[in-house]
Amino acid sequence: MDCLFCNIIAGEIPSKKLYEDEKILAFYDIAPIAPVHFLVIPKEHIQSVDEITPENSAILSYIFEKIGFLAEKAGIEGGYRVISNCGANAGQTVPHLHFHLLGNKEMNWNC
Ligand code: AMP
Repeated sequence: MDCLFCNIIAGEIPSKKLYEDEKILAFYDIAPIAPVHFLVIPKEHIQSVDEITPENSAILSYIFEKIGFLAEKAGIEGGYRVISNCGANAGQTVPHLHFHLLGNKEMNWNC
């Protein structure tokens, strides 16, 4: 396995976990850009938003059903931003689908 996030899921690379169940893992970003910055990833390896299909798309509703709970669990107040970078021009650096949760910071469109 040479996917960083698959290795984190497997426990081969340590992470600061916020939440885990049989389908998803939420862990804090190693280089936060907001006072609260964590990532939510599916355990199934999906490269990016671009690889969502009718067969694997149920994980998206599962993740979004959990996001409010995770934001609260992480102590986010006053709203948050959800970001998924897809591909090189968007700045995706890890080719495993992930959603950034940014909170406890007043943000404008440039972050
Ligand atoms: P992206 O640039 O959208 O692909 O986001 C990848 C994110 O993963 C970046 O915000 C990185 O800081 C974060 N990241 C990279 N390696 C780790 C790691 N070992 N543990 C936690 N977050 C990481």
